[in-house]
Amino acid sequence: MNNEMWRLARTPPGALPEAEDFVWSQAPAPEPQAGQVLTRTLYLSMDPYQWVRRRSGVEAPGAICHGRTVAQVVKSRHDEFAEGDYLFNTNGWQRYGLTGDGIDVFGYMYPRRLDPEAAPLSTAIGVLGMLGLTAYAGLIVQCNPQRGETVVVSAASGGVGQIVGQLAKLRGCRVVGIAGAPEKCQFVVDELGFDACVSHLQPDLDAHLRAACPDGCDVYFENVGGEVFAAVLQQLNQGARISLCGMISQYGTDLADMRKRWQAAGQAEFDRLDVSVHDLFVGNFVDSHQSQFLEEMGGYVRGGQIQYREDRWDGLQEAPAAFRAMLEGRNFGKTIVVVDPDAP
Ligand code: NDP
Repeated sequence: MNNEMWRLARTPPGALPEAEDFVWSQAPAPEPQAGQVLTRTLYLSMDPYQWVRRRSGVEAPGAICHGRTVAQVVKSRHDEFAEGDYLFNTNGWQRYGLTGDGIDVFGYMYPRRLDPEAAPLSTAIGVLGMLGLTAYAGLIVQCNPQRGETVVVSAASGGVGQIVGQLAKLRGCRVVGIAGAPEKCQFVVDELGFDACVSHLQPDLDAHLRAACPDGCDVYFENVGGEVFAAVLQQLNQGARISLCGMISQYGTDLADMRKRWQAAGQAEFDRLDVSVHDLFVGNFVDSHQSQFLEEMGGYVRGGQIQYREDRWDGLQEAPAAFRAMLEGRNFGKTIVVVDPDAP
């Protein structure tokens, strides 16, 4: 069986990925050892953290590009997984990958069997996967929004942001999104039910945000950092809570001390207003909250109370283009590469 994959060609030198950062290669598909399965990738998740790994050198040149996947077992030497089973796993940017004993996936990302009857399989890398858990952990567990409070979320139409806003609506909050293109703002208001959305591309973001938040901001779900964060800072209320989920506007800059610079930019306001800042790392919530999350979010998705939009790209060849588009904000919803055209 022939395997095809994208490897990292070099530690990327630019602020955005270039074609030269990646190299397409082929090799025979690996054989599973005892305790392992060979799986065929169906869906591949594009995530901003992958850019941080590549630019910071955590992903070494020559390595298969990292990525979470939905895959189907094609050969099993594992007691718990049979041929034909669907799994959430971490094949990376390749057609076939091994899962199981001795395979280096993050400790918190155990493979999970998926039931294709329970929800569309692609949701395992979206609303019912790490993205959904990220939204749930940051908003509900860390910030505990109360009815009538104002919640602001940046990258509002993206994978995490769209779920955060809808969860906050379900909690009875006023929800204000911040997004780029006008059609994204329109989408989160018209389709997802946010109360307002402000474009960070228009001049005078501060004034527009102030108008959208007449009672200030009680909870801020931070996905972006930089100028967007500077604007939200001015709206924070006494005792506001922030979930610091990500800072995508900074991922193409100097990564050293990124977190410290973010804190320094807000410190005076945090002190003055007694703001609580919660660093968010989804891996810390898998053991403690994944079951509860899957039950609650599964119900919302099946009941149509939470909608999700995917931005699909066809073919593994498209992965570098899809990745760059997401980092540039040209995605509209959760970015997914459909690796197998016959994926159910
Ligand atoms: P999205 O689907 O939201 O895609 C990224 C979006 O970021 C773009 O669509 C764009 O939206 C916005 N963006 C990009 N560059 C800029 C910029 N310079 N200024 C403002 N907005 C920008 O990605 P995800 O939902 O996968 O991820 C969202 C955030 O969540 C990221 O910061 C990511 O790192 C973080 N994350 C953190 C996790 C954790 O454990 N803490 C886990 C998972 C994700 P627009 O066009 O609207 O500007």
